[in-house]
Amino acid sequence: MPVKILIPASEVKDRQGNPLVLENEQCCSRCNQSPAGFYEIHRLHYRIGFKHNHLYGKKYRISKSYRLKISVCETCFQSDFLTHPDLLDHNNSPLAKIARSHSIAWTVGGLLAASGFLLLTPFVPANGILSTIKQMWQVPVTIGVLVLFLTWINQKKYQSKVLSEIEKSYSGFRPLARAEVHTYVLQNEEDLSATALEIILQNDLWAEACARNNQWKFKQPSAPDEETLHKG
Ligand SMILES: [Zn+2]
Repeated sequence: MPVKILIPASEVKDRQGNPLVLENEQCCSRCNQSPAGFYEIHRLHYRIGFKHNHLYGKKYRISKSYRLKISVCETCFQSDFLTHPDLLDHNNSPLAKIARSHSIAWTVGGLLAASGFLLLTPFVPANGILSTIKQMWQVPVTIGVLVLFLTWINQKKYQSKVLSEIEKSYSGFRPLARAEVHTYVLQNEEDLSATALEIILQNDLWAEACARNNQWKFKQPSAPDEETLHKG
């Protein structure tokens, strides 16, 4: 049975560079395995005062980014490399470094391909030296697509290697779900007890113990919601 933890505004209002960490006695938040020295990461925003008539990029009166870290074991961290490589924690483990290099390669390949197609558009005028460059639009597109293809092959290779490593220890392994996270847009910053963040975890005993240790409220997700705030 999943459990929903309600995190008050006081816990997240000043979290830039200081992530909110959920831990419970070195046990994995998904499978209870110990030790749990790795984390799943969620990049979130603490937001106050939604603006209806806003200029681009100023949608909220206050918007501060922060990170939520939930402790997981090495196996669950490895399973995230299979299911969510783009969301993997940027720690110093070899797997995180591989995921990071793949992420850079995806960006470089995409930018190269996009720049080639940009040469085809009227945004790049066909005069002088630019007309010669425009005629060479296939070069960045070809290199970009090649980079994307090789990155995809390389990522699949590492993922099958990691999967076979996991299956050596746990045959028939099935990845366990990441936490489901919802943030609220608050109406003012005075009420520090207002719920700013909801975290739904499938591991009910772990979630309840973690919430009790931190004196946070928790409930079953199906229970009637007493909050009057609007979901963001
Ligand atoms: Zn685990």
